[in-house]
Amino acid sequence: MPNKSLVNILKSDFPQINFTSGEYFKWSFDEKTIYFNPHDDDDGTYLLHELAHAILDHRDFDLDVELVRKESEAWDRTIVKLADKYEVDIDQNEAEMSLESYRHWLHQRSKCPDCGTNGLQSKNTHYKCIACGCSWRANDARICGLKRYRVSA
Ligand SMILES: [Zn+2]
Ligand SMILES: [Zn+2]
Repeated sequence: MPNKSLVNILKSDFPQINFTSGEYFKWSFDEKTIYFNPHDDDDGTYLLHELAHAILDHRDFDLDVELVRKESEAWDRTIVKLADKYEVDIDQNEAEMSLESYRHWLHQRSKCPDCGTNGLQSKNTHYKCIACGCSWRANDARICGLKRYRVSA
């Protein structure tokens, strides 16, 4: 398994970061931990993507507009810098699709459950609809490579 050795290389290059296998790919700022799924076909791609979040010092709990910017920043870093360095073939389509599904997910969660208008995010997971005044909480699961885990389109 080539990517098993990639994890080991990253571990020695970034001793300050923990690498833990799990169900999803995720960077946790608080835990200084990259979670990765070793059974994923694109694990090299997503490992580097999470590493990019870590290097860029991305934190949790931002507004959605920030999240989209950070996602695309992390992919840029992955493609422009990390892929060459660690000799991982990044599928540009994979990156684009991942970003696209991310935007879609954010769009969905900002939709008013009552009237379907896109609401305004007041803080983190709280939204308010400007059309009907209803407010709601959106689920705040944030996983990179969402398209794999999305249940409905
Ligand atoms: Zn509404
Ligand atoms: Zn990401």
